[in-house]
Amino acid sequence: MNTGKTKILVLGGTTEGIKITQAITNAKNFGQKVEIIYSLAGRTNNVPNVSAKIRVGGFSSENINGVDGLVKFLTEERINLVIDATHPFAEQISINAMTAANNANIPALRIERQTWQMPERADVLYVPDMVEAASVVARTARRVLLTVGTKELGAFAGIAKVHFVIRMIEKPDIPDAMPQLDDFEIITGRPPFNLADEESLMRDMDIDVLVSKASGGDATFAKIQAAANVGARIILIRRPPPPDGDVVWGIEPALKWLEEKL
Ligand code: NAP
Repeated sequence: MNTGKTKILVLGGTTEGIKITQAITNAKNFGQKVEIIYSLAGRTNNVPNVSAKIRVGGFSSENINGVDGLVKFLTEERINLVIDATHPFAEQISINAMTAANNANIPALRIERQTWQMPERADVLYVPDMVEAASVVARTARRVLLTVGTKELGAFAGIAKVHFVIRMIEKPDIPDAMPQLDDFEIITGRPPFNLADEESLMRDMDIDVLVSKASGGDATFAKIQAAANVGARIILIRRPPPPDGDVVWGIEPALKWLEEKL
């Protein structure tokens, strides 16, 4: 059904995805003129409460790759604009989004997060990837808070004499998906996190090393400040560069970009 409204696809799975969707809906001068589809990969069971139609799952299928699947979706759904608000480390979908929008000849915007400013007292080590992070952990850590995402845990397999506190959004629901680490416990939590809780967690768990992606943004910065406050070392995996194309840093400039396109 053609409602005469501008149709926007927001690729989400992040706090920014929710924020931009709400900000567009609430925008006084154009909120009523748009219709949003909010897309999730489906990695967790959580479905956010946003004023948008929600779709879940990748765009590829047995005989169509992710880019072509997304082009098909954009065409069939008559999408006018794409906003990529996925996580800074979700590199594939960001590249696919820009490529597909380009192929479908519609504008696309990437929303990046502000990088973290490290607290003065922070003991920070930047590493290029998870393998290097695991190698430093194996050599130097005792009790690690691991906040890297379920997909990345394999890099820490086989490390002896280190206790891992793994924070996940949800516990795996099948035993096969449990992390294959020597000594670990799982805690669950969903951003945003606050400083007092993060500090108590690190003290209670006697954490001496935090491992995190250098994701940036406000929602998870408290763990960085908390680690600095309790004197835990911070190992950060460097962030990949943004995809080619229109990129803004934050929600306000994203709204401006959108207003210009409408
Ligand atoms: P990825 O490696 O860049 O993407 C892998 C595939 O997952 C994509 O090719 C696409 O499948 C599908 N996909 C990813 N995001 C999607 C979305 N929003 N809507 C529809 N399909 C999507 O992504 P990832 O690192 O696995 O992250 C998956 C999702 O979790 C992202 O939406 C991201 O925002 C969120 N997330 C990721 C992290 C992280 O550290 N990577 C952290 C927090 C949240 P097809 O090729 O089939 O289209």
